[in-house]
Amino acid sequence: MSSAVRQSEKLRDVLYDIRGPVSARAAALEAEGHRILKLNIGNPQPFGFDAPAEILQDVIAALPGSAGYSDSRGIQSARRAVVHNYQLQDGFPAIDVDDVWIGNGVSELIQIALQALLNNGDEVLIPVPDYPLWTAVTNLAGGVPVHYRCDEDNGWNPDLADLESKITDRTKAIVVINPNNPTGAVYARETLAGIADLARKHDLVLMADEIYDKILYDEAVHIPMASVAPDVLTLTFNGLSKAYRVCGYRAGWVVATGPLERAQDYLEGITLLCSMRLCPNVPAQNAIQVALGGYQSIKELILPGGRLLEQRDTAVTELRKIPGVSVVVPQGALYAFPRLDPEVYPIKDDQQLVLDLLLQEKILLTQGTGFNWPDPDHLRIVTLPWARDLAEAIQRLGNFLSSYRQV
Ligand code: PLP
Repeated sequence: MSSAVRQSEKLRDVLYDIRGPVSARAAALEAEGHRILKLNIGNPQPFGFDAPAEILQDVIAALPGSAGYSDSRGIQSARRAVVHNYQLQDGFPAIDVDDVWIGNGVSELIQIALQALLNNGDEVLIPVPDYPLWTAVTNLAGGVPVHYRCDEDNGWNPDLADLESKITDRTKAIVVINPNNPTGAVYARETLAGIADLARKHDLVLMADEIYDKILYDEAVHIPMASVAPDVLTLTFNGLSKAYRVCGYRAGWVVATGPLERAQDYLEGITLLCSMRLCPNVPAQNAIQVALGGYQSIKELILPGGRLLEQRDTAVTELRKIPGVSVVVPQGALYAFPRLDPEVYPIKDDQQLVLDLLLQEKILLTQGTGFNWPDPDHLRIVTLPWARDLAEAIQRLGNFLSSYRQV
């Protein structure tokens, strides 16, 4: 008898719960004809956020000429547009096209950047809660994710003392996600400067995931990590998925700043891995120049009266009406990360809670432990639905939670 075909041991610690078993169950329910409200993925288009028309026009116009492979690091017009984008940002170190690599979304570039850097057992400092791809890819690349805490009582800012205490002689890099998914925190200059000091002192690479840099609420200001650490090797990741609402195109980039001569070998490793994926999707690369150089329609969505701001406010207001639920007001991004007071809701298994919510209310959320948060006392809610739908979903969450309540 032939033996079962098993997945490799490399996948043993690789988890990605945002699209994990509960969302597979949701897909099965949908196939049976149920309507599921999906508050689990930051995917704007299904909620009526259309891609800007000028982006579509340029992609369509370039389509006949997009059938060939491109340079594996990306097309010149896209890389030049990325250079121009950072030239306009206060204090961002000067870069040129050779410091830019285009990818099939930030996700692919996270894989490339970590695969190129890590030897087995090398440690990467990753925030918790995290965007879990960073932890999953570190494991896949043979590295060891070491989580530093972000402090909910301090607006979910990184706890710098905890971060420093976790640096060892195996540490290679610090990941900074700002604005943050899942908490919505936007870090102050002092916080970024503190992280930069640690990277400087211990000779670590900074990996700055800034995909939400243009999705800011109230008075929040995004400060690029590279501008605070011009003397530290910093990889800045960004793309079109969120601010330009084209995540299905898969268009992202990474730029390197700092002492690049010393990092030549590593950067050649990134170029090698880019050449092994042949090239990024060419039609999507044609969106980058027009997106970065065109009308910045995201502003209409985040300023007073804007849809994303209204939805952020609705999420906070409705969550705070649920007894025992608190939430730090998100200053950026597309999520809220509420806390369920363990004295009120003694939850043992938050994945089970999310599954029960799905089965009972047909609402799909992601549990806090899916973001490597150690305790089963948080949920992540995507703030993309229309305010009315979001309010109704959160009210139904409140009704559902009342059956878990102890006091
Ligand atoms: N980084 C963060 C913090 C994200 O939240 C996401 C997607 O949700 C990504 C990266 C992936 O983006 P992309 O669509 O460019 O692969």
